[in-house]
Amino acid sequence: MNQLFIYGLLLEGLEAFCKEHRQPAFRAKQIWDWLYVKRVSSFDEMKNLPADLRAKLADHFIFQCLEKLETKGDPGETQKLLFKLGDNELIETVIIPAPRRGTNTVCLSSQVGCRFGCAFCASGQKGVIRNLTAGEIVGEVMEVANVLGGRPDNVVFMGIGEPFDNYDEVLKAVRILNHPDGLCIGARRITISTCGVVSGIQMLAEEGLQVELSVSLHAPDEEVRASLMPVNETWPLEELMDACRAYTEKTKRIITFEYTLIKDVNDSAAQARQLVKLLKKFNCRVNLIPLSPVEEFDGERPDSETMKTFFQTLENAGINTTLRDSKGSALKAACGQLRARRIG
Ligand code: SAH
Repeated sequence: MNQLFIYGLLLEGLEAFCKEHRQPAFRAKQIWDWLYVKRVSSFDEMKNLPADLRAKLADHFIFQCLEKLETKGDPGETQKLLFKLGDNELIETVIIPAPRRGTNTVCLSSQVGCRFGCAFCASGQKGVIRNLTAGEIVGEVMEVANVLGGRPDNVVFMGIGEPFDNYDEVLKAVRILNHPDGLCIGARRITISTCGVVSGIQMLAEEGLQVELSVSLHAPDEEVRASLMPVNETWPLEELMDACRAYTEKTKRIITFEYTLIKDVNDSAAQARQLVKLLKKFNCRVNLIPLSPVEEFDGERPDSETMKTFFQTLENAGINTTLRDSKGSALKAACGQLRARRIG
């Protein structure tokens, strides 16, 4: 796709555009401000720009890159937004409010579909169709900002897709979202979640960014992990843990390990102890997620007693653990329930 979405440009890209069209560099900052601070939805509204520059921008760039087809859920609660892309592909974006903190988190898709095919996740059932562009990813946030009447506080790449399978566009989007003169979403409020793409972990370690890294573990040993996550064939658990260790050493950042609890698969007391062994001496957090039901996977979530025991085993070993109730199940907006669809 060669369409240039205005939200896909870094400030430097806008500056280059202005230079090319013999406009002073400060014009780029003005455009940036209209885009991300005033959040207008057309070039016409950028009143302090000369008319010919507005016309040139409209010639070169597309403003709206996502068409909102459907909103599920009520304002103030978890909401799932369905978007149509320029080529008729569909993606989903979720808004998760934390009413007590008064904050909102947006859960972004980074691809149409996913190639990694984790057994329990609906997003990868049909493979990957294509990467989202940085413009489309930032576009998701801008659409959410319109729904909320302001920018979201936190961003998590936990929607459809594997962010490290679309590394460059995801990182570009992160830099746009993070820019202090734009949306200014702090790097520490941006979480990238990976199924264990080691090359991505290694590259992120070199970026000098303070973003949060989550790694989907889901099992304490090679065998169970391989049975749930085909990615384990390419990057076995041992290699993944080595990369995580190198990442924390290099960045001094704490990694969060995601662990979806599945009844009789990875929820036993012995497996909790094995997980402790794996993560001990590792400066990390663990997020336990009860399995969200998906049609294609006949696993179940464990009973709450089993989940509490698992949680307690980790906590007792001094591992900072949360037992997260995956939000949005009724809307099929919870972890792993988002799927790529196509119309037309
Ligand atoms: N591809 C990335 C981000 C997408 S999913 C990754 O794998 O990390 C975000 C989290 O939801 C991951 O930890 C994923 O394994 C988990 N998840 C997927 N399907 C789930 C399900 N049915 N129930 C609970 N968690 C699930």
